[in-house]
Amino acid sequence: MELSSKINPHRTILHCDCNGYYASVECLLRPELRNLPMAVTGNPENRHGIILAKNQLAKEAGVITAETISEAKRKCPDLICVSPHHDLYQEYSIKINNIYREYTERVEPFGIDESFLDMTDLWQNYAASPAQFADLLRKRIRESIGLTISVGVSFNKILAKLGSDFKKPDATTVILPEDLTTKVWPLDITNLLYVGKVTAERLRILNINTIGDIAKTDPDFLASYLGKIGENLSLYARGLENSEVQKYSELDEAKSIGNGMTFSEDLTGWEKIREGLSGLVDEVVTRLIKSKKVCNVIQVQLKSSDFQIFSRQTTLNRHIQKRDQVWPIVWQLINELWDETTPIRLLAVTVSGLENQGEVYTQMSFADIVSSNLSVADDSNKSKNSAKQDQIKNLIFELNQQMGGDFLKLGRNQ
Ligand SMILES: [Mg+2]
Repeated sequence: MELSSKINPHRTILHCDCNGYYASVECLLRPELRNLPMAVTGNPENRHGIILAKNQLAKEAGVITAETISEAKRKCPDLICVSPHHDLYQEYSIKINNIYREYTERVEPFGIDESFLDMTDLWQNYAASPAQFADLLRKRIRESIGLTISVGVSFNKILAKLGSDFKKPDATTVILPEDLTTKVWPLDITNLLYVGKVTAERLRILNINTIGDIAKTDPDFLASYLGKIGENLSLYARGLENSEVQKYSELDEAKSIGNGMTFSEDLTGWEKIREGLSGLVDEVVTRLIKSKKVCNVIQVQLKSSDFQIFSRQTTLNRHIQKRDQVWPIVWQLINELWDETTPIRLLAVTVSGLENQGEVYTQMSFADIVSSNLSVADDSNKSKNSAKQDQIKNLIFELNQQMGGDFLKLGRNQ
């Protein structure tokens, strides 16, 4: 139809979707579960708890997401139910997105285990075709993380998303403009993003059953019949959705706050590295304070002059916010990461595990203690003073514990 001439075929959008995410992460950390039918469930003690995710064996036994444990166990009596570990899923999600970000700055997470990537004019740097790039990315995630992803490749987000559902697990599906009428239009309407149960029922009443049926229905009628969603579905079905993939660095900072810098000259020597990192930490901490968040995961990433990426992160048992809390950990991580000789092209610092300030227990900052210690320095009450000193010692001990070594020591005046 003539409207298809408005399709923008020049974009290369990927939708990457982790396969059986929760269950896969659990099996990654407990490999003994891999060869047993297992599911991640709301509350394993309660047979009314529901299935949040299942592995391939459970799937083959007929277990489906969102049914109750008792329903699932009727079909699969040996089903092993485990509680979810959301912090881990978050951690792996960040790791996976950080890999995507090595290829493009336009990485837009869509839920914890899915992301859109805009690889327009970028895939050529890595592969002979967009499909080959998707294959490379799948291999990369499989080998470095141990999880599999399905990738849809198309000219907009909606069709890339639809493509990633085509073939699972660990598969690539390409939808070109010319595939729209042959591959997409015959599909049932529920394959289209945002066609939920209610919308589907309303469309079926009108005998609109396939995506092609939506495409061929008058857009104005759909808009008046379903409202804004009708208008959108018409655009989606005709391949005309054209929204941008957001830059990861500009996303809602609820999940992580990060700052990276590519240096015009490769950095060499500890002094330059310290300077580079110091500026990044300043900005991350400023944004952390500004957004009234505290963090407990800190990650440092570096890219060498030959484009190899290395990263290391640590999860603390407390939430922190201040610079003198974040800096020693960043410094420790770079000490573990950098071999002192490789020239560095890019440095990045990211904090995550964010919580609202005041809602979790945070440890006192080193500066807080030192300044309050100074304020009582003239106090003749020695015991008060030594209590402060104990606090400082405790803090140093704790920081050293967190960093796994004796990196901080008391000065001789203390
Ligand atoms: Mg998924």
